[in-house]
Amino acid sequence: MEHTPKEAIKPNPILLQSEDLYEYILETSVYPREPKPLKDLRDASASHPLAFFGTSPDAAQLMAMLLKLVNAKKTIEIGVFTGYSLLTTALNIPDDGKIIAIDVNRKSYEIGLPTIQEAGVEHKINFIESKALPYLDKLLENQENEGSFDFAFVDADKDNYWNYHERLMKLCKIGAIIIYDNTLWGGMVAWAEESVPAAKRKLRLSTIEFNQSITADPRVEVSLAPLGDGVMICRRIS
Ligand code: SAH
Ligand code: CA
Repeated sequence: MEHTPKEAIKPNPILLQSEDLYEYILETSVYPREPKPLKDLRDASASHPLAFFGTSPDAAQLMAMLLKLVNAKKTIEIGVFTGYSLLTTALNIPDDGKIIAIDVNRKSYEIGLPTIQEAGVEHKINFIESKALPYLDKLLENQENEGSFDFAFVDADKDNYWNYHERLMKLCKIGAIIIYDNTLWGGMVAWAEESVPAAKRKLRLSTIEFNQSITADPRVEVSLAPLGDGVMICRRIS
């Protein structure tokens, strides 16, 4: 533990080598374009002890662009928390678009809900209070759901990422974008195991395995982009 870099104990360390450079990116091209409802939701979540769960605005900005690029209309989100990524999605799909948003805990969603309502996009959201895996299986019981989703954002329960991937390969269309968050795990994927705090080791290993498996999966194109805590962006191609 003595060699643990200082960042190890920060819950959501900055992956970029220089905090100044990250600040520069946020101040130059992210905050000036952050929609007001997203800024409000970030402010409303700021005092939450788990506020660092919230998707970082730079990653959300890329997500918004990808949603637009694929003309996403029907999407899935796994892991809502107070709703930063959910509201990003809701603001970037058409008025008749639909999001199935799954989280085991509705309480944190309710923190962001007034802002989502104020933004006039609540009607696009179907919030499901459930564990994600059984709910995805339930969706798959209805054949109409197969190949019907344009976009998915996965940000919960990292141990199950591969299980989510197998379900999402059936639920998403060819051409759909699927984003897996926290896939650089605070940078720890590249550390020697001894340097990683014991409590973080298991999920670090799952993340390493997931990144390898998904890269070897011929059904998707991939890009592991170092935004936020690392986003594995996949496009279903077969
Ligand atoms: N995307 C969110 C952050 C999600 S944090 C944002 O931008 O703010 C992870 C969330 O996953 C937490 O709210 C937690 O309640 C939820 N979660 C944890 N395990 C889960 C599971 N098995 N199924 C669904 N949600 C889960
Ligand atoms: Ca996350």
